[in-house]
Amino acid sequence: MPRPLKLLIHGAALRANLRRARSLASASRVLAVVKADAYGHGLARVVQGLAEADGFGVACLEEAALLRELGVRRPILLLEGCFSGADLERARELKLDLVVHQEEQLRMLEQPCTTSPPRVWLKINTGMNRLGFPPQDARAAWERLRALAGLAGEPLWMTHLACAAQPEHPANAEQLRLFKNLTRGLPGPRSIANSAALLELPESHADWVRPGLMLYGAAPFEKPHGAGLGLHPAMTLRSSIIARQQVPAGGQVGYGGAWRCERATCVGIVACGYGDGYPWNARAGTPIWINGRRMPLLGPPAMDMLAVALEAPAHIGDPVELWGKHLPVEEVAASSGTITHELLCRMQSCQRAVELEEEEDGPVAETPSPGARPGACA
Ligand SMILES: *Cc1c(COP(=O)(O)O)cnc(C)c1O
Repeated sequence: MPRPLKLLIHGAALRANLRRARSLASASRVLAVVKADAYGHGLARVVQGLAEADGFGVACLEEAALLRELGVRRPILLLEGCFSGADLERARELKLDLVVHQEEQLRMLEQPCTTSPPRVWLKINTGMNRLGFPPQDARAAWERLRALAGLAGEPLWMTHLACAAQPEHPANAEQLRLFKNLTRGLPGPRSIANSAALLELPESHADWVRPGLMLYGAAPFEKPHGAGLGLHPAMTLRSSIIARQQVPAGGQVGYGGAWRCERATCVGIVACGYGDGYPWNARAGTPIWINGRRMPLLGPPAMDMLAVALEAPAHIGDPVELWGKHLPVEEVAASSGTITHELLCRMQSCQRAVELEEEEDGPVAETPSPGARPGACA
């Protein structure tokens, strides 16, 4: 029998989140960002749920090639552009859209070639200071791109906001103003917004929005969580209780006695650990969903299991949700000192250890907890 650990991907949630993105930015086209193996969800698994997107954003050629193999005919944008001339050849074969963010990439495009030319998204650095031409070079770069014979349509204008997750931050207005001034009167579609900007900065929507995180049902803000923004978690990490221990007051749990029970505790052992992507630095007390209620994690997880205080009756074989439909992944991320993006992305390295299935939505039975002697394994 396989380990009871399962990563469930909810296709219906992906579809609903994409609809939500569309309704918030109804005048824009939606480029669904699926880099990092679709934020750890598995690119091949999300593609159905996001099939209605107007295009896809990826970080590497391998992801783009996989999307084409899966039958995607819509635009696919390489978010960091090409790293070499060989990349450019391959990108042309795959008919990809390319970000052009620096001089080297511009020169590559200016080399003579015979294959069909790509569509380019000219990226301007308006303050993020990561990728993009400096504002003073933007116009010249744009003119060079337009001079390329047979470029597939007008170049698009693109920038990225550094502080969109803090909608009130003055840097947002500054970046937007700079971008607007630079592109004023010039032809070509514009693109600015990631999830946070799509949700909270309508003035950034422009022609294409580029949501990532929100499509997976999570919020890019501390509060509210995805559910409060009309989003639905697209991933549930589920396992079950594989053992129970009755630990007396003063007894310890885990390596080095990492957790000490102040009072008699019924401890449940769950088949999920840091080797599966659950964060080692999750604080004691991080909630775990068992039988319709939250119970606290005890000490750090081990490689393939973790300990939880069974504060209500729970038995070997009972299902456990580490995050997902009943427990926001944002909460587990915050309780582990990381961001939700990173926690989800971890699951891509863990896909060997977990079983994936496309699951249609159905409620998980919530068992009311009958009264029991506190701390005793009932
Ligand atoms: C990753 C990425 C996005 C999506 O960001 P989210 O915060 O996940 O919505 C958008 N644009 C660019 C350029 C990106 O690299």
